[in-house]
Amino acid sequence: MKGVKVEEIHLHELGYELSLNNGEAMQADSVVLATPHHVIPTMLPDEPMFAPLKDVPSTSVATVAMAFNEDAIKKDIDGTGFVVSRNSDYTITACTWTHKKWPHTTPKGKVLIRCYVGRAGEEAVVDLSDGEIEKIVLDDLNKIMEIDAKPDFTIVSRWKNSMPQYTVGHKDRVKAIKEQMELKLPGVFLAGSSFEGLGLPDCIDQGEAAVRSVLEYLETPTTVTYSI
Ligand SMILES: Cc1cc2nc3c(=O)[nH]c(=O)nc-3n(C[C@H](O)[C@H](O)[C@H](O)COP(=O)(O)OP(=O)(O)OC[C@H]3O[C@@H](n4cnc5c(N)ncnc54)[C@H](O)[C@@H]3O)c2cc1C
Repeated sequence: MKGVKVEEIHLHELGYELSLNNGEAMQADSVVLATPHHVIPTMLPDEPMFAPLKDVPSTSVATVAMAFNEDAIKKDIDGTGFVVSRNSDYTITACTWTHKKWPHTTPKGKVLIRCYVGRAGEEAVVDLSDGEIEKIVLDDLNKIMEIDAKPDFTIVSRWKNSMPQYTVGHKDRVKAIKEQMELKLPGVFLAGSSFEGLGLPDCIDQGEAAVRSVLEYLETPTTVTYSI
């Protein structure tokens, strides 16, 4: 359901009730919590097992897509992109030559470059204006390339609190939460970047595992089901 938030989740004797921000309520036998971790304690405020998630930080980042005419790039680089070491004087953290990596995305004669800014401890840049971010990115790119024209267009997309930062003890914390959930919230499962890996393949693995857990839970004879 696009544009609809789950506000709270309550366990009752027949399953779970999800209160939505459109005023409706949804009944469920089983629930997969696939939101960012900091949302979970707000949806289940009476469950202290989720309190440790409040202390897990998330980093804000922004992507900066810039389109140029091919002839604006005077000194090009052989490759499809690069990542930047933290021990450098660059603000960008990575760069993809999108037109080379995925040629079908870019019309002939054009260049599409996508850079990333913002990382743990260095997030202030994400809140600068689009123009300021564009200048910082161009200055960085010109340290290794030679670009002598303004971009045809620049699109800055900010992703606030999008990168969970697993702190020491993360695995044990998630394990303890899952054990508590099994006891107190049967049929509720976790999946997503906040828990067992941030990359898309990790998220897909977790989604598939959560679905297997739901099916197993629904198929166990002890499950209480209700009729509509
Ligand atoms: C800029 C950027 C670039 C990245 N590049 C790569 C890459 O190249 N390769 C790679 O493998 N990974 C990449 N990642 C990481 C990867 O994209 C994410 O870790 C992954 O998409 C997270 O998926 P998710 O389903 O866990 O969370 P999300 O996709 O964030 O989904 C969480 C969902 O929960 C919803 N939600 C939140 N609150 C509520 C609520 N109260 N009720 C209902 N729904 C709610 C949100 O609307 C959202 O749809 C990138 C991430 C970012 C930010």
